[in-house]
Amino acid sequence: MKQQLELLCRIQTIDTNIFRSEELKRKYAAELQALEEELKRTEELYHAEQERQKQSEKELLRRERELAEARDLKKRTEEKIMAVKTNKEYQAGLHEIEMIKQQIKEKEDAIIDSMDACEAAKAALQKAADALAAAKAQCNEKKHRLQKELDAYLAEIEQQKKQREALVKEVAVDLLANYTRLLKVKNGRALALAENEQCTGCSMKIPPQIYNEVVLGESIKTCPNCNRILYVAYTSDNEAQRQSA
Ligand SMILES: [Zn+2]
Repeated sequence: MKQQLELLCRIQTIDTNIFRSEELKRKYAAELQALEEELKRTEELYHAEQERQKQSEKELLRRERELAEARDLKKRTEEKIMAVKTNKEYQAGLHEIEMIKQQIKEKEDAIIDSMDACEAAKAALQKAADALAAAKAQCNEKKHRLQKELDAYLAEIEQQKKQREALVKEVAVDLLANYTRLLKVKNGRALALAENEQCTGCSMKIPPQIYNEVVLGESIKTCPNCNRILYVAYTSDNEAQRQSA
């Protein structure tokens, strides 16, 4: 029985690793999703800056058009006053030109503001583009590293699965069936180490008689509380106990 238990212990170690590989896959998927979301946020920031820059260019064009119109109006008004008949009309025309000149001055100032805004928007866009490129590179690097880690672990698991196939052939059919059932219902942990008369699977105290039998290792004993198959780590102390029992 001791040999059978030892076999089960080795199988359990492999099963624990297999179980962990599923956890690792889930963790990998979650980390990947977090990375993608972070990248998406950076992308959104970039698109917002792109839109802001486009709007500032549009505003500049609009102001330039308005200035051209004002200059055109000034020219037409200047031509108009050449043809007026009375001094009163001439004075009114001059006054109109002065107003237009004032408007032109305001529009020129507005264009300078607009150019500044365009420059600032351009710089902000460049910054966002740099941040996006860096985030993309970082995301790819992280993805690559995670995938490599996962692949290495999964390759190791494949090896262990092959070892497991050989090991299970040596376990008694009934015992293996019990182990397999426990593995399923006990969340991947069918075996529990009995330590200091305590089950490490559920932390309950093991009755002395059962514990002694586990130490003897002549039959398969399960925890009365969690039903896991109990085993002991043979140290020289309980080995001596085993010998004298
Ligand atoms: Zn237990």
